[in-house]
Amino acid sequence: MHQEKIEAIKSSIAAADATNADELEAYRMKYISKKSVVGELFAGMRDIPNEQKKAYGQTVNEVKQLAEAKFQELIEKVNSSSTKSKSSDLDLTLPPSNISAGGVHPLTATRQRIIEIFERIGFNLSEGPEIEDDWHNFTALNFPENHPAREMQDTFFIEKNPDIALRTHTSSVQVRVMENQKPPIRTLSPGRVFRNEAISARAHCIFHQVEGLYVDENVGFADLKNTLYHFAKEMFGKETKVRFRPSFFPFTEPSAEIDISCQLCGGKGCNVCKGTGWVEIGGSGMVDPNVLENCGIDSKKYTGFAFGMGIERIAMLKYQIKDLRLFTENDVRFLKQFRSMV
Ligand SMILES: [Zn+2]
Repeated sequence: MHQEKIEAIKSSIAAADATNADELEAYRMKYISKKSVVGELFAGMRDIPNEQKKAYGQTVNEVKQLAEAKFQELIEKVNSSSTKSKSSDLDLTLPPSNISAGGVHPLTATRQRIIEIFERIGFNLSEGPEIEDDWHNFTALNFPENHPAREMQDTFFIEKNPDIALRTHTSSVQVRVMENQKPPIRTLSPGRVFRNEAISARAHCIFHQVEGLYVDENVGFADLKNTLYHFAKEMFGKETKVRFRPSFFPFTEPSAEIDISCQLCGGKGCNVCKGTGWVEIGGSGMVDPNVLENCGIDSKKYTGFAFGMGIERIAMLKYQIKDLRLFTENDVRFLKQFRSMV
């Protein structure tokens, strides 16, 4: 009698099926829960004569294990089919979820703006290698033998004798352009440069410069000043004032540092401009006749001017960024602020 009942339960467990959560729950109620048919078998124990209790108990336990194993099997079946049905429920007409598109890096945007300004007044673009030989980085530019930039503490050398180094400025591109083109030359060379500097809020061992060069007959210092006046007003706004301070560079004569009126205080004096009302944006000067001759250009017939500016410096002044390291740390909280730029 018991045996027949138990066999019937076993075969109904074997035949049981479930295709969704509701059917799974129905199975659980029928075969697993306290009130299930298996539960009733356990409850029936009390009516079994003592000498049969052990054998009965073993049989019922087997049924219980069978019921639980089947339950696990059905859970897996329902779970895997529900994943499948989810993907087949994909509705292609729904609007897409928001994907953050990112933006142009502030240095790229600043470089692009500088290029636009100079392109409109006739400057083309030129590039040179980041690994440069001594001639293009130093000698052709009039650097004397004992100049500190030629020392290991200032420059990353890749090889000594012959000297090969990571370029310390984009002025090396001037030399390459003048060696390969005849005047008139009006070119802008943006690029990455390298110096052996300790990294701080104001200095980095890798940064970006943009070099400008104009060589033709009768190019004078007035052309240099007018070009840079134009640039400063386009880049920083019409109210911006520009001043030139006498300076020295090996490759220009005369040479001048370029200052603009402080963007923060408008020239009244503040922390950023150290109370002077002026901040430096770069260096400039008339190309030294020696440099022209080094590059095969007749210095009696042609003159030229050159200028160089740090792209980080321009971006920091324009957007009032206090720490140079932010440009390379890739912190999205910083980068996000420039998403709408240019
Ligand atoms: Zn100021």
